[in-house]
Formats: sequence, C-alpha cells, structure tokens
Amino acid sequence: MILPNKLLIASIFVFFCTPSVAGFLDQDFTKITLKTTHVRGNIYMLEGEGGFAGGNIGVSAGKDGILLVDDQLSPMPGKINTALADINPGKLRFVLNTHWHGDHTGSNGHFSSDATIISHKNVRKRLMAEQNNFFGKSPASPKEAWPLITFEDAVNIHFNDEDIQFIHYANGHTDGDGIIYFPKSNVAHLGDHFFNGIFPFVDMDTGGNAFSLTRNIGNIIDSLPSDALVIPGHGGLSDMKGLKAYYAMLKSTTEHVKNLAAEGETLEDIQLGGLPTEWTTWGDGFVNEEHWIKIIYNSLPK
Ligand SMILES: [Zn+2]
Ligand SMILES: [Zn+2]
Repeated sequence: MILPNKLLIASIFVFFCTPSVAGFLDQDFTKITLKTTHVRGNIYMLEGEGGFAGGNIGVSAGKDGILLVDDQLSPMPGKINTALADINPGKLRFVLNTHWHGDHTGSNGHFSSDATIISHKNVRKRLMAEQNNFFGKSPASPKEAWPLITFEDAVNIHFNDEDIQFIHYANGHTDGDGIIYFPKSNVAHLGDHFFNGIFPFVDMDTGGNAFSLTRNIGNIIDSLPSDALVIPGHGGLSDMKGLKAYYAMLKSTTEHVKNLAAEGETLEDIQLGGLPTEWTTWGDGFVNEEHWIKIIYNSLPK
C-alpha cells in the first residue's frame, strides 16, 4: 500500500484503531470509492480508496449468490452494494467476520436483514459487550450486528461449488480471528493476521499476541498451496511470496526484541536501538517501528 505522507498515515491509523470513537465518522465518506479486483475463480476483493473504508472485503460470487468476508465501516453498505451489483446480481447470503474490530464488522447490522453472519464465538461475545482496548472504548453493537452462527475451531460453508474453510487461529491479532480459504479458486482471506508490507497492529487488550501471530502465520503458510493468492486485512492483494516475506519480518523482529529483552534491555533501550534496517520500510504504514517494538515487547511472557 502506498500512502502519500506521514500525516495521512497517522490519521488513517486513528480511523483504523478507533472504530467506536468519533474520528472515522468525521471522514468525508463521499470521497471514498471501492476498487473491485477479480482475484481468481469466484473470488473478488473490494478495497477502499480515497480514505479509510475499513479492511479489505473478500467476495464469493456465483450461482448460489454472494458471500462476503468482512463488511468494513458502518457508512459503507451503499458503496458495497453498488460494487456487488457490478460483479453479480445474486442475493447476498452470508457474511463471515474475520474478527470483531469495527473496520471489519461495521456494516453487519445493515446486511443482517439479508445475510446470515458467521464468526468465531469470541467475535460474537465481543460485539455483544463494550470493549476497551489500546485506543479506547467500543460500545456494544446492536443485536442485529451479532453473528447468528458461531464456531470454536472451524466450520465449512458449501457455497458456489466450493467447500469454503473458515478456520480459527488463536490469539493472533485478537482472540477471535478466523481465516477463510476457498479451495476451488485457491484464494485465502487472512483478515488482520496479515498486513501486507507493513507492521501489523496486534490488539493485546482483546487477546492478541505478536508471538502467537507469528506462529499462526507459519502454520497458515504450511496449510496453503504454494500458488494460492492471499487477500490481506490491510494492504494490496498478495500471494504466498508476499505472505512469506511478512513471515520473515515477523520472525526476525520478534526474535530481535526477545533476545535483547533476555539480555536485560528495557523497552526504551530496544526502541532506541531500533530494528534491523532491512525492516525499516515496514514502519511506513499503520504501526511505526517504535510501536511495533512495543507490541512485541509487551507480548513477551510475563
Ligand atoms: Zn483491520
Ligand atoms: Zn483488526
């Protein structure tokens, strides 16, 4: 993802991380457009441009109708419907939520009159009650935004001639993350387990952990074919090469902080020294280098 300047990055970071706080709703949503990319087979990706629409949406469109992976911020349903109408006139049947954050579940309440919402059980639990994380309070969502079907480890959705796999990975970005794999199209949507080309945000207040995230990404890579295409939660469409580059960054940076902490360095010492320079450009997105070091440090076992 190419962003024009640090100020914009900072403002996007605030929008992204404060789904409940007024910030993102102050955006001029008329300036936001959705770009549709045909990924492969039945699968499309919807990506916001001109402002922060929320996380990337995955779309399965075919003879059974439409299934969405995530549904962005609450002002986005009109633009999502317009984009979907251009792909396929079929009926929206399912929305899968990769995790509870408002930039991925904000339009649940709108779409639930047509579609059945499915998620890991902790997504429903967190949407039902006020959440308090690093960036402030998120009020409980209205009942119509709560997923109707939840699972613990995995669920299959048999739709558009695919045996779609929706699989929980524990304590990565949050405590309720699920990734989705479309085997026939050979496309995966990783939600916020994957920030393409930038340091990830990890929500430790709702069960995330940088080391578990790293382990999960290694397991996800092992589970996917080498020619899979990969939709990240944030950033542009990727593939296994891009996911492996992200994994190399996660392994290197988490090990770096862990080793220095074991030698007795404080968080401030490690931040002052910085990360190996090969990872510097990864700090140009949502989470800068200093913040990423802090997330890793605070993820160390106490
Ligand atoms: Zn997100
Ligand atoms: Zn998130």
